[in-house]
Amino acid sequence: MQKEKLYGKTLNELIDVTRKIGLPGYSARQIADWLYKKEITSINEMTNLSKKIRDSLKSTYEIGLSAPVTVAVSNDGTKKYLFKVLNNKYIETALIPEAKRATLCVSSQAGCKMGCVFCMTGRQGFQGNLTANEILNQLRSIPEAGIITNIVYMGMGEPLDNMTEVLNSLEILTAEWGYGWSPSRITVSTIGLSEPIREFLEKSRCHLAISLHSPFNEERSELMPIHKNNKIEDLLNIINSFELSKQQRISFEYILFSGINDSLRHIKGLSRLLGSMRCRINIILFHHVPGSPFRSPGPAEAESFRDALNARGITATVRRSRGEDIGAACGLLSTLEQNKEKNE
Ligand code: SF4
Repeated sequence: MQKEKLYGKTLNELIDVTRKIGLPGYSARQIADWLYKKEITSINEMTNLSKKIRDSLKSTYEIGLSAPVTVAVSNDGTKKYLFKVLNNKYIETALIPEAKRATLCVSSQAGCKMGCVFCMTGRQGFQGNLTANEILNQLRSIPEAGIITNIVYMGMGEPLDNMTEVLNSLEILTAEWGYGWSPSRITVSTIGLSEPIREFLEKSRCHLAISLHSPFNEERSELMPIHKNNKIEDLLNIINSFELSKQQRISFEYILFSGINDSLRHIKGLSRLLGSMRCRINIILFHHVPGSPFRSPGPAEAESFRDALNARGITATVRRSRGEDIGAACGLLSTLEQNKEKNE
């Protein structure tokens, strides 16, 4: 019989566990402490619980950590870990070290339902939601866990399509009984569906990054067909109806595609759309995926695009391309691994 995993449970879920085995509620905090602060790897290490209680826990539960199956290391220091989840599916986790920070990019689903036409993960189709255990295990089970300063939910999948497990993982990361991180160290990246964003802003103080890719609805829905009946203006109205704290940041992700969304018309459109909003635009150079007709402009063109936005009063930055030599595009490595298994 497969045991239930303790790692990835919220405090309320741990209280349920303690009730099931007849422990007082306060033991849930002790267990959370072992899991998220002392980072133990076996129930035996919970030495402030009696042996009888530990044995009782062990009969149904395990800590539930799993090591990555492989890692690819880029010349620029970026690493891509591959984890096995959900009965032989693969997900990717990228570690991006910089001078003063180390960012971990985690996946929230295996595959994705959203079908963005430029995305390798989208081509895999949807394979399943990750649990909070599987999301946080990407942090806990890599050798660099202790140096990670920031987490971005920008790996495989649409995080707000797996709302419950993503919110549970954020609660564990930010709660004082959990890892105790500031929400400002965490960014959740979303394709930008209105109702999930409303729910997220009601429940979380973490940063939100919204995929924009064009200021024009028709072009946006060609790149992200899920937006066929969604207007970006409606989403902005929802965001503007929230009084966000100074610490909570809304940003827009803008993958620059050569000849598609990189013209002066787009700069003017972005300025019209976002000119009065407190936000920033992250310009991202497209990472080529095999068989894709999309091309990335060069870094110089991206910088001109950024400068033109800045000149119009919009804060824009160009995200430096990392890990090109190990298949930077999200979904590439896991697709290769899955195909390898099929051909064996
Ligand atoms: S870009 Fe994100 S939302 Fe779109 S298909 Fe890829 S993983 Fe899904």
